[in-house]
Amino acid sequence: MMKISYQPFELQLKHPFTIAKFSRSSTPVMLLQIEYEGYTGYGEASMVPYMGESIETASQFLAKLDLSWLKMPFNFDEIITYLDSIAPGNPNIKAGIDIALHDLEGKIENKPCYRSFGSDPANMPATSYTLGIDTAEVLIRKIKEGKGCHIIKVKLGRDNDQELINTIRSATDKPLYVDANQGWADKQQGLDMVFWLHEQGVVLIEQPMAKDDIDSNAWITERSPIPIIGDESVQRYSDVEKALGVYHGINMKLMKSAGMHEGYRMIMKAKELGLKTLIGCMSETSCGTLAAAALAPLCDWADLDGPFLTSNNPFLDPPFVNGRWVLTEDAGLGLKNK
Ligand code: MG
Repeated sequence: MMKISYQPFELQLKHPFTIAKFSRSSTPVMLLQIEYEGYTGYGEASMVPYMGESIETASQFLAKLDLSWLKMPFNFDEIITYLDSIAPGNPNIKAGIDIALHDLEGKIENKPCYRSFGSDPANMPATSYTLGIDTAEVLIRKIKEGKGCHIIKVKLGRDNDQELINTIRSATDKPLYVDANQGWADKQQGLDMVFWLHEQGVVLIEQPMAKDDIDSNAWITERSPIPIIGDESVQRYSDVEKALGVYHGINMKLMKSAGMHEGYRMIMKAKELGLKTLIGCMSETSCGTLAAAALAPLCDWADLDGPFLTSNNPFLDPPFVNGRWVLTEDAGLGLKNK
């Protein structure tokens, strides 16, 4: 008999995090455990406020969940169809359940999760370290904190974008990822900024314009010397195809894709269409980070910095070497309790 338990948890950020549209200092998380025959699978739903889920909506969803019909080996196509039949939307809590079931399955089969996806740890991309919008002094301090990371990701989309980049460049010459978070309003100004950022050593740009402004995003993509990546505009599997012709690539996050199973399918679909793949995260503990790290070797780039940006991770930080998460031989996600 499968048994599920869960606890709300407030994941604290080391620094209040400001992006183009909002600022916050902690993130509500639902931690889940699914037990079966002496094994425990761990999952996490990180509920950043702008996605619309909360401890309350997650609890309502979980109250309707029935796992009694599940049989090993799990059929994840069937599982995601079942989760979607409980209620539409709710990708955060669906991801938490999917992650716990993958961890559980890996433990029962005594196999690391990444192996089930054909993911080779040797291909792990370096992960970036994200800076929110901040004063010069704080930015420089954050850059020093993130010294183990090889890539800096910077959130833009305000009127002092160039000043921010100049500040960062005064402290580091590492490659930069830029995330405009839909913050640019004019496509020509956006494109001028893209060219300027290219000269500053920026290697990719996420979501330059509003997600619904398909024409302007496509216009910039067509002219950009560096990859333009859709994030807010690409949530689940059916969105991947819509990114073709609008962006060079997609940012896949487990909290958008409703978990590892659909996330994997999104990555594979993007590759088939010739789209680039970035794997990203929300504010997540080691649980969500390891779930994404299991798929990261299938992607071109990784932005999995949850454990660096949070101060009360309830799990041990995964091993991190040479700017990369290290996937081990441990069964399941490889998650370790403190
Ligand atoms: Mg983004």
